[in-house]
Amino acid sequence: MQQKIIVYGDDRLRKCSDSVTIKDPFIDLIRNLFDTLNCYGGIGLAAPQIGLNQSVFVIDTFPQSKFDPDHKPFKLACLNPQILWYSKRKTLFNEGCLSIPSIYEDVSRPESITVRYLNERFEQVEETIDGIKARIFQHEFDHLNGVLFIDHLKAFQKVRIAYQLNKIKNNSFHHSEL
Ligand code: ZN
Repeated sequence: MQQKIIVYGDDRLRKCSDSVTIKDPFIDLIRNLFDTLNCYGGIGLAAPQIGLNQSVFVIDTFPQSKFDPDHKPFKLACLNPQILWYSKRKTLFNEGCLSIPSIYEDVSRPESITVRYLNERFEQVEETIDGIKARIFQHEFDHLNGVLFIDHLKAFQKVRIAYQLNKIKNNSFHHSEL
């Protein structure tokens, strides 16, 4: 079922998430995250963005393949993810976030990473990933630790988006009163 995405200014985006256990209803959570992601047209969504501080995120790059015909879309759900290794080599990519609408900035991150997570069947997966997969993984992983992509920006970029960011924050407070 589609959920409402919370935006910048909401404290739940700044909390660390709890690990998921086999007893948690994670299948429903994964389904809700995919439904919400597809509805908003994004490529990644973490549980804190629907107000749940649980260590789960989903990725579905189908919308990306519309803009980039060479991109082969992929879809995955990650529970209790860890990043075991970061490459020294970094790349820039223009990032956005469904919880920070209409702000896009270049973010520098390691090009490849080794990750470990549980998939939707609660099986452990360990793999080294790069490119857009590594990029989205790091962005979503950050959400589980209360970190947002804007935290990685350089000072001049932070200045550039300050006004817009404040507007999002004020709007989110306004909506929470309704
Ligand atoms: Zn995000």
